[in-house]
Amino acid sequence: MLPNSITSLISNLQTLPGIGQKASTKLALDYINLDPQKQLDLLSSLLKVNRELKKCTNCFFFSEDEVCNFCKLGESGKRDKFKILVVQDATDIIGIENAGFYKGLYHVLLNVISPLDGISLEQTTIIDLELRLENLEKENKEQKETREIELIFYLRKNFNTETTIAYLEQYLSQKKWKNLIKISKLGHGLPLNFSTSSVDADTLKVAFENRK
Ligand SMILES: [Zn+2]
Repeated sequence: MLPNSITSLISNLQTLPGIGQKASTKLALDYINLDPQKQLDLLSSLLKVNRELKKCTNCFFFSEDEVCNFCKLGESGKRDKFKILVVQDATDIIGIENAGFYKGLYHVLLNVISPLDGISLEQTTIIDLELRLENLEKENKEQKETREIELIFYLRKNFNTETTIAYLEQYLSQKKWKNLIKISKLGHGLPLNFSTSSVDADTLKVAFENRK
């Protein structure tokens, strides 16, 4: 019989998606075989994530502060805050950042509207996105030069994402400043039901350039 500390480590590792009995056993044994300092370093990274990582109050990406690094760069003018790439999960952003061509900001929806699954508007961050757009519009008004606000959807193609995009389009169509908003979708050239982790940087770049 294995000691309780090992069986508990193995079963906790299995809470990670895609990690089964075999992989969790291997990971647990690899961890046990590390030297004690390395074990502590890994443990301290896990604790740091648990204690310090939260969501950006503006775009809902991971952040240790109220506002994430992307949004800070947007405020200081080092990234274009008038370009917002809308994704469902924060992890979708990592693939785009690794590709290295995008210099705008993001918005993580967390969920898409799905009445059949009981997911309503309030369980998404759509209202927060609307607020961001309204703030950009206000900022535009204070400037001499009016800037176009580009909203780029990078969502898997399915009924729920289409419903969500349609909702936002409908919301924006009622606004006096609707002509300031340019909406495009990233999907052309991407496989149906693509996962951002499986799309390579070149395909992503081409899809971005061909967005419509
Ligand atoms: Zn942010």
